[in-house]
Amino acid sequence: MASRFLREDLSLFSPYSVTYSPDLIKLDANENPFELPDEVKERIKEEFTNLHLRIYPDPTAFELRRRISSFIGVEGLNESNIVLGNGSDEILQYIFIAFLNKKDPVLYPNLSFEMFSILSQIAGARDIRLDLNESLTLDLSSLIDGLSKYNPKLLLLCRPNNPTGWAMPEEELLVILDKCRKLDILVVIDEAYTEFMGESLAYLVRDYDNLIILRTFSKAFSLAGLRLGYAISNEEIIRDLMAVKLPYNVSIFSQMVGRVVLEYRDIILSRIKIIVEERERVYRKLLELPKVRVFPSSANFLFFYCEEENLMDKLLSYGIKIRRFEPRQRLLENAYRVTIGKREDNDRFINAMEEILS
Ligand code: PMP
Repeated sequence: MASRFLREDLSLFSPYSVTYSPDLIKLDANENPFELPDEVKERIKEEFTNLHLRIYPDPTAFELRRRISSFIGVEGLNESNIVLGNGSDEILQYIFIAFLNKKDPVLYPNLSFEMFSILSQIAGARDIRLDLNESLTLDLSSLIDGLSKYNPKLLLLCRPNNPTGWAMPEEELLVILDKCRKLDILVVIDEAYTEFMGESLAYLVRDYDNLIILRTFSKAFSLAGLRLGYAISNEEIIRDLMAVKLPYNVSIFSQMVGRVVLEYRDIILSRIKIIVEERERVYRKLLELPKVRVFPSSANFLFFYCEEENLMDKLLSYGIKIRRFEPRQRLLENAYRVTIGKREDNDRFINAMEEILS
């Protein structure tokens, strides 16, 4: 039960809920199945011995921002186009703090990253959700209509979308960005999984002064436990976000690890290819199963429907944890999301599914 001090408008609020279960085959949280390579860990250990934990970190994280801007590789962008967060979800929260007044309308697709709705409720903004169609994609025309009808302050899109895996085509996004610029709507494109589709829209930050791109080290860089994410935008927006962020939100340790993994990015990111190949293999296997309807994905997970009763519990008895969604709406009935793991874990998942559904 909530305390009597909680804001009234949060009395019906349901927070992000996850259970911590490191001992299972974890295919529930879109984590990268590969640990950092040993040589990278060794290098982190060495650097750690020289860290001055006694002192506060650089609040601007200048050096890491500089290296991230060169990693992004878009001509004309530099450290003044980057802000860092303790995970990209922290930056999402800063976006709400900096740009949203109470009751400001926020538009996002009905099936998308859960933090959109949670942060919007905490901010006291007014949620407007646009339904996906039956193929779990968003119609360009309904999005354009929604923008005109609701004139939101903020549009949140996730590309590829979590949990469906669908990536809105670039040419459609350009139409949306043009429309939003005309209506002066701020657009956030959350690219948490963009490395798994191999393209980013970061370059558009130069052309659209109403655009923020969110990226993270949690997925492709195998660093979900570290908590390090960043936003890419124009200098003014970055300055606003810097102004509202907590001064020491990214620790000395995170800043150091960020620098090291960027140095070793080639070996770390080389594992993406394995994950993408596995994704396609698991997708094909799921296509063959009875009672399963699986959707193509550009990320490191697959979304599927399965009519089997208690599928989650049955998989748990095999030691496998996937994500089940609360059936709060029709599109989430019998809906599951499975993260792509290492080959042997994917095999165990597929074998368990075959046995359960046979
Ligand atoms: N955006 C999306 C779409 C995500 O799925 C996640 C992680 N679940 C995040 C952002 C948060 O990433 P981070 O670990 O950087 O906070």
